[in-house]
Amino acid sequence: MSEGRSFDILIVGGGLAGAALGCALRGTGLRVGILEAVPIGARGQPSYDDRSIALAHGSQRIFQALGLWSQLASHACPIRHIHISNRGFFGFTRLSAQDEGVEALGYVIENRTIGAIVGAALAAAENVDWIAPATVTDVALDEQAATVCARINGEQVCLSAKLVVAADGDRSIVRESLGVDVDRRPYDQAAVIANVTPEKHHDHVAYERFTATGPLALLPMTEGRCSLVWMVPPQEQEAMLARGDDEFLKRLQDVFGWRLGRFVKVGKRAAYPLALTRARQAVLTRTVLIGNAAHALHPVAGQGFNLSLRDVAVLAELIYDAHCAGEDIGAQAVLQRYHAWRERDQGNAMLFTDVLARVFANPLGLVAKARNAGLIAADVMPPIKHRLTRFTMGLAGRQPRLGCGLPLVPSGAIDKTAQRVSAVS
Ligand SMILES: Cc1cc2nc3c(=O)[nH]c(=O)nc-3n(C[C@H](O)[C@H](O)[C@H](O)COP(=O)(O)OP(=O)(O)OC[C@H]3O[C@@H](n4cnc5c(N)ncnc54)[C@H](O)[C@@H]3O)c2cc1C
Repeated sequence: MSEGRSFDILIVGGGLAGAALGCALRGTGLRVGILEAVPIGARGQPSYDDRSIALAHGSQRIFQALGLWSQLASHACPIRHIHISNRGFFGFTRLSAQDEGVEALGYVIENRTIGAIVGAALAAAENVDWIAPATVTDVALDEQAATVCARINGEQVCLSAKLVVAADGDRSIVRESLGVDVDRRPYDQAAVIANVTPEKHHDHVAYERFTATGPLALLPMTEGRCSLVWMVPPQEQEAMLARGDDEFLKRLQDVFGWRLGRFVKVGKRAAYPLALTRARQAVLTRTVLIGNAAHALHPVAGQGFNLSLRDVAVLAELIYDAHCAGEDIGAQAVLQRYHAWRERDQGNAMLFTDVLARVFANPLGLVAKARNAGLIAADVMPPIKHRLTRFTMGLAGRQPRLGCGLPLVPSGAIDKTAQRVSAVS
């Protein structure tokens, strides 16, 4: 085993959450290392796969403040309306960007594209070391430092840092190695995803349709395509992947209806088992858990990464401010500030998605009627609608600087990095 370098911060996992934190810490003067098992662009990369992300308006502002939105924007499709309905009933709710005075409620963008753009930004960052492939095997903590051991180029290497950020996903090895328990409640649903092309243009409407087996989302994409996220019983998942394209599209047509005309094309399909998971502790001595390592949500309403990005924006701000004030960035006091700030938003997002996933999948007639009445009420009562829209836009609660579209580092160091990124992408 060889002793490696020491860092201010080691981020374990360079997926959506870990890479976003790396980007937020560019230009801060802090020495950051990101250890990632599967490099961006490699086959089998679990974070930058065939899915698309519905980025909330608040997340777009964070990417703007990070100097990355100008590159993401050309690949992103704006969501101008959200149409929520209940299959078999006529009640529905419509949310609109115009009502909120914004250009878009959110944007849909492919995970692979986000990966390519954040990857280029990290490669150009002077204070961030992208270490991949590097599989973390063990983490140990003491009062002075955290030690992270990983297999790098076939060799076991141990690195040290003032702070370790676990961003290594739902099956986090950091979490396991530190003995943090997890509450996990599986949903009786799996998400089948694919890109589909309808005959009619989506007109920038995102559809969320609740069916007896779970929600179905169709999100507007570039080139007139839609990103489909279809919740099905886990025992049907294999059959949904194995079906011929025509049969799959016919089934989709039966469930979604004809609002977008005939579905004419479907791309590659994939399935994801779904569970609500939450680590019992998100903050330990010299350690913070973020992204799916801290909380994995049902994908209904596209909240998971948006929530993680808000976590990232707050964490980066508190770390940077502590660093500027000469504080120990791994100190409990700093990490507790993060926990106190983020606890409420995390709880609300988990509750919101859990209720939607469970109540809206309940086939009982009385429950179905009650949720239909709820959709109608939400549609005709502007204050309820406004609060629902602000929440889905990721604008509820206290916002960090990045969430307000302001740079973390006032000196313009990020701008210089952004210019270099433009040059490489
Ligand atoms: C079907 C579906 C649709 C979704 N749609 C949306 C949406 O529209 N909007 C939204 O906001 N969210 C959405 N989400 C949620 C979003 O995908 C997650 O929030 C996000 O992927 C979490 O990112 P992460 O970086 O925390 O974890 P991951 O994506 O799991 O990444 C973890 C990273 O850590 C690396 N890693 C793992 N173990 C190790 C190790 N030992 N050493 C080094 N590296 C390691 C992995 O290689 C990976 O790169 C959706 C989720 C699903 C399942």
